[in-house]
Amino acid sequence: MSTPVLKLDQVVMQFGGVRALGGADFHIDQGEIFGLIGPNGAGKTTVFNVVTGVYQPTEGQVLFNGARIDGKKRFRITKLGIARTFQNIRLFHNMSALENVMVGADAHHRTGAIGATLNLPWHRKEEKRGRELARELLDFVGISARMTETAKNLAYGDQRRLEIARALATDPKLLLLDEPAAGMNPAEKEALQALIRKIRDSGRTVLLIEHDMSLVMGVSDRVAVLDFGQLIAEGLPADVQNDPKVIEAYLGVSEDAS
Ligand code: ADP
Ligand code: MG
Repeated sequence: MSTPVLKLDQVVMQFGGVRALGGADFHIDQGEIFGLIGPNGAGKTTVFNVVTGVYQPTEGQVLFNGARIDGKKRFRITKLGIARTFQNIRLFHNMSALENVMVGADAHHRTGAIGATLNLPWHRKEEKRGRELARELLDFVGISARMTETAKNLAYGDQRRLEIARALATDPKLLLLDEPAAGMNPAEKEALQALIRKIRDSGRTVLLIEHDMSLVMGVSDRVAVLDFGQLIAEGLPADVQNDPKVIEAYLGVSEDAS
């Protein structure tokens, strides 16, 4: 048995009176595309926030390649090799697509503000390398033709792809995608499914939160279902889809688009 890339061990996340996660427990293996689904408010985004160090869990542990990361600072977790996209797109709206990805790549540069201010040769070299990497990543996600476009002027689906490129700029071993298909049309969703596979095939592990059932069931190796902060099912997509508990969780909760 190899060590899982990510393991949540009885993770509890309490916000005052709200128990967003009530003992979430699952693991993801190297090279998997793992789907995380569940009704709105189930705790899916909270899983991402706990894994990326936005929140420290109230109880339990988060392990990345066997080492605890719960309670670590966000930038440390990024450096260890975890990156994410956001349910509500977070781009620098007035910067170009290329610049947005270069900012993502900065998380891995050794030169900080001092190198930039003094315009030191090694800083210039890193900026050049960052620019090349950003171009490659925009090409990888399929929007290199829009490289110089301001982020806010990109179509919605392209903004989602840009967020993925920016996350990839930190060279993550584990990529977390929070509802990447939200707002996409059917053709864009098809292309997204291919992109997620391509990301996995490039040697990364993917944790995908997604509402679009045909997408998540089509692309995931395994799927887990959260409901009120509890894992109610986990397994192969076909098995999870036919699980009576899952069907009830979805039919029993009123759907909204948030
Ligand atoms: P999902 O992504 O599955 O829709 P979330 O993880 O965003 O669900 O939220 C799970 C629950 O935790 C919700 O009831 C939400 O209101 C609550 N919650 C999430 N973050 C916070 C926070 N920072 N403070 C208080 N409550 C929160
Ligand atoms: Mg969410």
